Amino acid sequence: MWNFTYVIPSFMTLLVLLAYYCALPRIPIRMNRTFIKILVMETIVMFSDIVSSGMDSAYTEYPLVLVNIANIVYFVSFYSRGYLFYSFTATMVKVFDNNNAWIKQLTKIPLYISCLMAFTSGYTRWIFYIGEDGYHNGPFYNILYFCFYYYIFVSLTIFVLRFKRLRNNRERLSILSYNIILLAGIIVRMMFPRYLLMDTFCLLAIIIIYLSFENPDFYLDDRNGIFNGNALREYLDENKGLDNYTLMAFALRNYKEIREVYGINQMNHGCDMIARFLIGNFDKYLCFNYRSGRFFIIGDRKMDYDMIYEKLEDRFSRSWVDDSAELYLSAAYVVTEPEVSSIDSDTIINGVIETLDKASSVESSDIFYVTRNLLSERKKEIEVKRNLEYAIEHDQVEVFLQPIISSSTGKIVGAEALARLRNKNGKLIPPDEFIKVAESNGRINDLGKQVFAKTCKFIKEHDLAGNGISWVNVNLSPIQFMNPNLAECYSEVVKELNIDPAQIHIEITEAAMVDDVQLKEQIERMSEHGFKFVLDDYGSGYSNLAMLKKCPFICIKLDMSLVWDYCKAPDEILPTMIQAFKHMNFEVTSEGIEDENMAKLMEDIGCEYLQGFYYSEPVSMSVFASRYLENIV
Ligand code: C2E
Ligand code: MG
Ligand code: MG
Repeated sequence: MWNFTYVIPSFMTLLVLLAYYCALPRIPIRMNRTFIKILVMETIVMFSDIVSSGMDSAYTEYPLVLVNIANIVYFVSFYSRGYLFYSFTATMVKVFDNNNAWIKQLTKIPLYISCLMAFTSGYTRWIFYIGEDGYHNGPFYNILYFCFYYYIFVSLTIFVLRFKRLRNNRERLSILSYNIILLAGIIVRMMFPRYLLMDTFCLLAIIIIYLSFENPDFYLDDRNGIFNGNALREYLDENKGLDNYTLMAFALRNYKEIREVYGINQMNHGCDMIARFLIGNFDKYLCFNYRSGRFFIIGDRKMDYDMIYEKLEDRFSRSWVDDSAELYLSAAYVVTEPEVSSIDSDTIINGVIETLDKASSVESSDIFYVTRNLLSERKKEIEVKRNLEYAIEHDQVEVFLQPIISSSTGKIVGAEALARLRNKNGKLIPPDEFIKVAESNGRINDLGKQVFAKTCKFIKEHDLAGNGISWVNVNLSPIQFMNPNLAECYSEVVKELNIDPAQIHIEITEAAMVDDVQLKEQIERMSEHGFKFVLDDYGSGYSNLAMLKKCPFICIKLDMSLVWDYCKAPDEILPTMIQAFKHMNFEVTSEGIEDENMAKLMEDIGCEYLQGFYYSEPVSMSVFASRYLENIV
């Protein structure tokens, strides 16, 4: 009656896969839990398929209740299997996030109804019944197809809706293919119900999942069976925000140097020995080898990390010996503070590594703590980096202008261009946060060029001179200043727009003055192209009058701190300094003027120009134009 040709080899293959998968360590994440449920459920389905089909064929030889039970088990496991395949897709596309638990419950309803009908079928005969002449499908037998089609449909729908949540095309292709294979399986079953072929299709789907997502090699160090960095990242990502773990890490001190001393081969042996020690001694915890002599240990919130620390320190006090290696190693330790789990895995791992480096650089082997503050800062930096990258690529760096006032007339005579970024909510990010980042990741040249070009365009499109504004200051970072093509690059922009370069004053800070030969050369090259220079933030660093003499600045901007100190307690130092600047033919600007009194004091000691919130904060170009410029060209 039933044909077992396909189901028996499929069942044996499945048993091998199940045994192999269970024998290997797995990180406790939802994806793995769902997969193991699929394997177990498939085993039950195949087994009960074979048993119930056999019993149905020879129904007279078994008690009726047993035949009923075998069929109920088959139907219930069949329905559950459809749900579990869908559940795997949902896990991969991250539908079952914590705040989406209701979706999980909602999509279970067809499963519950079908199971209830199967359970009661012995009485109701809805799904199946064993009559006088043997097994029969009940009037609602087709709910089996409905249930399976339903879960494939939902699975494909969430796959399409959350396509982007998947990491790469390989993952996308795998999910699509196992769902299509399941669909083919259920169609074949409808066409040839006697062949027990569906299980073979399900086995194929399982193999695709195994090869694409569950292959233990993705998550295990091939040499010693400890979890690797991928596993660590998966675990941290899944437990984000749950605050249910303690993370401890240690790093081998001077890893690079000792690797050179012992050689790579011996070092690898050393790391393998450490990995085996961790697996052998801390089997309650998850242990990871995160390359370059760094190991992570994760336990629950109550993990006794002092005990682990003592055990490790004790072990590191002795050498690591096996047949092919003998190493003397020492380690530095860190533990994460509670509540860091709300931060993404990359930031946590980077923060741990940064703290490990700090711990390695000191003699003592005390435990260092990875603080929430450090991680929040790093997280913020990453966000700033992202915003910076986006703004530079999409020409969205904004330029604000702050007026500069003549102290004698009280009228606006110039402005300073100041860069601004916006985050994705439209909130302004101040330059103190992104200039440093741009300087460290090499984007400062592109950022500076955008600010410069936008300022030039503004000058071109507005009649500044007609409104009494003679120049606009543009800031230049010391790193930009080292760029040998700077003069050509900036003068090209000016030429293209056909504006007078003398309208642009370039502000550099004392930090650019460290190498005076290079400074002179760059200033000369740019002066040849017609640009003028202003020294910014004078008094905030190591000011050097001799150096000033060598450079053709037209103006010195006193740093706010100098101005504020003087206004709080006037003395003779600043007035004398200003007199010296005047002898050297520099004009002087005071930054940070916040009230009338400060303006008066600075005017009295000879500052030509004043800039500060008393007059105006930096404003967008359009606000600046509407406030200070009457005739638009
Ligand atoms: P800076 O060049 O010294 O610019 C003056 C800073 O002082 C501006 O801060 C301005 O908003 C602020 N300021 C002006 N008046 C007052 C005041 O009365 N009180 C107070 N408390 N602050 C005042 P901002 O715009 O945040 O810029 C900070 C720094 O970022 C700038 O200092 C400059 O060094 C740098 N920066 C801004 N834009 C650029 C740029 O396009 N390129 C480069 N390389 N650096 C830039
Ligand atoms: Mg400035
Ligand atoms: Mg300044």
